[in-house]
Amino acid sequence: MTERLYYDNAYLWEFDAAVTRLREGKKQGTWEIALDRSAFYPTSGGQPFDTGRLVFAGGEAKVTGVEADREGEVWHMLDREIPEGTAVRGLIDGARRTDHMEQHGGEHMLAGAIWEKLRGTTIGLHLGQEDSTIDVELPGERTHMTEDEIRMLEDTVNARIRLDAPIRCWFPDAAELEKLPLRKPPTVKEHVRIVAMGDFEMVACGGTHPSSTGRIGLLKILSVIPAKGKARVSFVCGNRAAALFQKYMRCADKAGAALSCPVDKLSRTASELKSRLAEAERKANRFETKELLDKFRKAEIPEDLKGIAIAAVVTDETDARAVSAAVSEYIASPGKLLLLAAGERLTFARSADVKIDMSELIRRVGRGGGRPDMAGGAGIPECVTVARKILKTEMK
Ligand SMILES: [Zn+2]
Repeated sequence: MTERLYYDNAYLWEFDAAVTRLREGKKQGTWEIALDRSAFYPTSGGQPFDTGRLVFAGGEAKVTGVEADREGEVWHMLDREIPEGTAVRGLIDGARRTDHMEQHGGEHMLAGAIWEKLRGTTIGLHLGQEDSTIDVELPGERTHMTEDEIRMLEDTVNARIRLDAPIRCWFPDAAELEKLPLRKPPTVKEHVRIVAMGDFEMVACGGTHPSSTGRIGLLKILSVIPAKGKARVSFVCGNRAAALFQKYMRCADKAGAALSCPVDKLSRTASELKSRLAEAERKANRFETKELLDKFRKAEIPEDLKGIAIAAVVTDETDARAVSAAVSEYIASPGKLLLLAAGERLTFARSADVKIDMSELIRRVGRGGGRPDMAGGAGIPECVTVARKILKTEMK
């Protein structure tokens, strides 16, 4: 069983140990070793493993993964072999671990506040690349939180972070454990490790935590969405929260400069612009539709085919909504047949009383399909001339 050095000191980035076991890794050319003692954190409780290096007399190996087995042995995945009995110096990627401790520590504070203020029970932690999530069971099977609740939770946690209260981890004996006011019952029966953060959070946890709440830095909730009947809360802490604030400020400043307005007026300015744009588009569309309709009517040859008026029209590429509106209006009158090429887009359509299959016709001259009364597809402008010739020849 590996002695876990991070239990006593979560900031131990360097340590000496000896290789107790060696085995081949799951992937070819990789190796796994167990150490008699290790400060490398193995993936558990939602917190990912540490990475780093093992330096020894024969060189050094990269630690690419860490896992603990049921017997309590901590296995280090390596890119090279280190023989059993070798003395090694472990070097941990402290920046990665500090980030994990900030997120994990913040999760405790948030879960504690959710329990205290909303009587919500937190189930599981997922510490992701971008943000972390917890699933919360709220009273009354509620799967959301109000804006005020979210803000209250953030304010509560951040005030407690600023208090810089000590975070303490220890293994109590059975008698002491029984008396501790834990947020929820421990999931393990033996060697229960307790983490206490000031007097506002106490729960069983085997993970690594900052030494005081101040080192969590800052907590920001990003969203609360329903997931599997619970409220899924995603959040960031520490340096991630600071980096996100910088990113959002940059985006907001750029957007403000682009719209020539202060950041706090961004959303109102954007909504106003959006509705003005929609109105302008509606106007432009009405104009385009009218122009197209005029084109159809000008091109129309009355009584071209057994009492049917055919309009064969070739035009530049045009807004699809304007085409659709103009075509619908044109074929609303009886006895019309339209062969339209707008750029490379073909539209063949006819009035309800004209019994010619437009979908079949479009397939004979280009690519496409649709309904018997209206079909769309792609082809060159000459398709229109060819289609008219087919109609004239075959329907004489
Ligand atoms: Zn923990």
